[in-house]
Amino acid sequence: MKWSGRRESGNFEDRRGMSSGGKTIVGGGIVGIIILLLNTFGGENVQMITPILEQFNQGQSAPTEQRALTADEIAEGKFIEAILVDTEDVWAKIFQENNMQYQRPNFVLFTDGVQTACGNATSASGPFYCPGDQKVYMDLTFFEELKTKFGAEGGDFATAYVIAHEIGHHVQTLMGTSDKMRRMQEGKSQAEANKLSVALELQADFYAGVWTHYNQKMNNFLEEGDIDEALSAAHAVGDDAIQAKIQGHIVPESFTHGTSAQRKAWFMKGYKSGDMSQGNTFSEVD
Ligand SMILES: [Zn+2]
Repeated sequence: MKWSGRRESGNFEDRRGMSSGGKTIVGGGIVGIIILLLNTFGGENVQMITPILEQFNQGQSAPTEQRALTADEIAEGKFIEAILVDTEDVWAKIFQENNMQYQRPNFVLFTDGVQTACGNATSASGPFYCPGDQKVYMDLTFFEELKTKFGAEGGDFATAYVIAHEIGHHVQTLMGTSDKMRRMQEGKSQAEANKLSVALELQADFYAGVWTHYNQKMNNFLEEGDIDEALSAAHAVGDDAIQAKIQGHIVPESFTHGTSAQRKAWFMKGYKSGDMSQGNTFSEVD
């Protein structure tokens, strides 16, 4: 993708090089694997971000060390910030078209561990959005894992898709969809609650597609192979793909993010239509 010459965001925070010894993990990121990780290592069944994570807020740890960033890390940071800026510009436009005002989220790059309003997180969490402080948190080692462990082809647009998905959760927070979905989950069985979670996640994929559509119009930023990189990443983070890899069998009732096919389809629907009114992923939930 083409991204040079973007302005600075003002909402971008680079905490790489600062270590912080948080031990707990938050959920709600781009992959359902978080829940598997927690079941394996943490013993806590984290379904969604806010309610359960309150109890993780103990165990304060101050930053212990700081080191200078390498030239490569600085370049990576500039690239991530450029994507963030493109999400700010596109969503400001879409909100304006709908007579709303976009409130820009903050974005934090970190290594190892980070403290958030949703609890302490580590790299194992994968990228995630915390509604409590309206920040996206991301450790770039995730993208290596996506390639090496989950077979995605990687590439700059895989990163852009993941960021756009997390920003999609911010959009859902601003629009009230996230709160509404959590209220709908109350009193439901685990399987029913999971279906709602899948709808929320697929809508974030749809919004990532809508963002791509608008940004292509505004910045003509796509290069050959970019969409394939996004689809490869979306395929890799499908619940069925991850479960097949991690546990060797698939349990559809436990899906929280949607299958590879669903994730790709909703991203493409958003990308091709650019039409927010076509993003009702909840209509398929009972
Ligand atoms: Zn998500």
